[in-house]
Amino acid sequence: MLLMIPGPIELSPAVKGAAALPAPSHVAPELVAAFGRVLGGMRQVWRAPEGAQPFVLAGSGTLAMEMAVCNVVDPGDAVVVVDTGYFSARMAIMLERRGAQVQLVSAEPGHTVAPDEVEAALQQRPARAVFVTHVDTSTGVRADVQGIARVAKAHGALVVVDGVCATAAERLDQDADGVDVYLTASQKAVGAPPGLAMLVASPGALAARAQLSHLPPLSMDFDAWRPVMKGYESGSPSYFATPATSLILAADAAFADLNASGVEASWSRHQATADRMRAAWQHLGLTLLPHDEAIAANPLSAIRYPDGVDASFLAGVRERGVVLAGGLHPKRKTQYFRVGHMGWVTTRPDLLAATVRAIGESLSDAGHRGDIDAAVVAVAG
Ligand code: PMP
Repeated sequence: MLLMIPGPIELSPAVKGAAALPAPSHVAPELVAAFGRVLGGMRQVWRAPEGAQPFVLAGSGTLAMEMAVCNVVDPGDAVVVVDTGYFSARMAIMLERRGAQVQLVSAEPGHTVAPDEVEAALQQRPARAVFVTHVDTSTGVRADVQGIARVAKAHGALVVVDGVCATAAERLDQDADGVDVYLTASQKAVGAPPGLAMLVASPGALAARAQLSHLPPLSMDFDAWRPVMKGYESGSPSYFATPATSLILAADAAFADLNASGVEASWSRHQATADRMRAAWQHLGLTLLPHDEAIAANPLSAIRYPDGVDASFLAGVRERGVVLAGGLHPKRKTQYFRVGHMGWVTTRPDLLAATVRAIGESLSDAGHRGDIDAAVVAVAG
């Protein structure tokens, strides 16, 4: 089976090999070295500012989101959430539970929010922080994080970006773009198995934690974890809570892959892959959920079912050995499906071509005709 959903994803042979090793102790020298390389690797992939702190915790992207929320926002703080879909809605719920005053700036599914709209919200009411989902996995839309961050900074707000479906696949320079927290999870374009929450906090975000009047839960407190992370990065382990040691080894292999050619190459490869996949969708007579290709995300495609086709066609794709995902946005769930094209598969045109062929043939079974051979050539070259 070829796993072509928007995470978890197919892993490189090196990552699979590392994940299969016996779980080391959290103080074993090889684990300490690997943990240090992962944290250093994150600084490179994130383009972290001087004085930033990377964190890696056992958990998923949802934990990273909550960790960001409760370390930079106090109960009563005003915040803005750029609402582009399912995961921004989740961020808003977390912020409400933290007691923040949440102002949503919302887009219809398949659309995004312009920096001007964020500016208007901040002019109405200053905010402690602006929260943005870089790639909304429920709609396949990419937000203009750079533009929104510029506006937020001009209004003195912190910028928190959920990069769970974007980090390493979409351009973002944490330092140059002025992002205070950029968070992700291991199972997407980073290229490791699920199970690690990953986040880099800028000096501004670390200062926000120091100034909180209501402390965050201990298990996700920047200040509880910081000495541990610093320790691993300097080669001397200390204990706060047991890290997911097997996953750290896998993440180490993933960062070695990523940093061997550099994040710039990874961004470009994801862009080129997305361009080829979009050409294939055109040959198959398919249209995207994002209303404009300029905002269509690079790590995945959210594709409308053509007339006469519904989610049952996904079973035909699975019978051909490829696993895809259905719709996720509550307003449009039954109208589209999703194909992940991130991480290791971006180096494997043959696997992308197999995916396109399985989709084309299964659509054809469902009565929708496209030019399958042209679509396959568009992907495989
Ligand atoms: N944010 C985004 C943009 C996501 O795509 C996801 C997962 N699909 C999450 C947050 C939550 O991550 P997890 O499922 O790892 O908790």
